[in-house]
Amino acid sequence: MPALPPVPAPVTLPIHGSDRRFPVRRIFCVGRNYAEHSREMGGDPTREAPFFFTKPADALVTSESTIPYPPRTADLHHEAELVVAIATGGRDIPEDQAPAHIWGHAAGNDLTRRDLQAEAKAARRPWDMSKGFDNSAVIGALVEGPLADAPITCTVNGRLTQSARLSDMIWSVPEIIAHLSTYVDLRPGDLIFTGTPAGVGPIARGETCTVAIGDLPPATITIA
Ligand code: MN
Repeated sequence: MPALPPVPAPVTLPIHGSDRRFPVRRIFCVGRNYAEHSREMGGDPTREAPFFFTKPADALVTSESTIPYPPRTADLHHEAELVVAIATGGRDIPEDQAPAHIWGHAAGNDLTRRDLQAEAKAARRPWDMSKGFDNSAVIGALVEGPLADAPITCTVNGRLTQSARLSDMIWSVPEIIAHLSTYVDLRPGDLIFTGTPAGVGPIARGETCTVAIGDLPPATITIA
């Protein structure tokens, strides 16, 4: 009989200004949470409740990594997003109690194989292979504590592609936590990508893509 595989190493995120690391449990993502992006993807921002998808925890890539161009796509896209780290879990968390469940925040990039996502939408198939592929969750160092409104931007080789404010979100972070915790029992270590503003677009081989949110450490990725 073949040997059992080794127990996988825990997935962790660096914490800004600390030697400690944040243990990652699951990665949830919100779809279409900025009105202009919802419209650019063919949605109606006035009618849609928040919806969720996931990425495997080990799809996580830390900032300043170089990753290969993902397979099975000719249209890799960036999506600049605020990432929220959950400290304490719960089910049916009321909106007014949601901030107390947050450990901290980070800048993130929800990398997307846009061509596979378009095929999945047309065929009414799941998004896993367009959203949850290897190296698809780029996240910068975590900063502990609450976060004020801030600008969120994405640049590709220094060219500005996305620019908005966190306050432009359709569903606020407390509303997202309240909604998501009606679907799943949130747990310590869960991460939530909170949606992207308008301006998503391709990243080519050899390009560097940086997501910046206020004073948070940026999330930068280079495609080999
Ligand atoms: Mn996204």
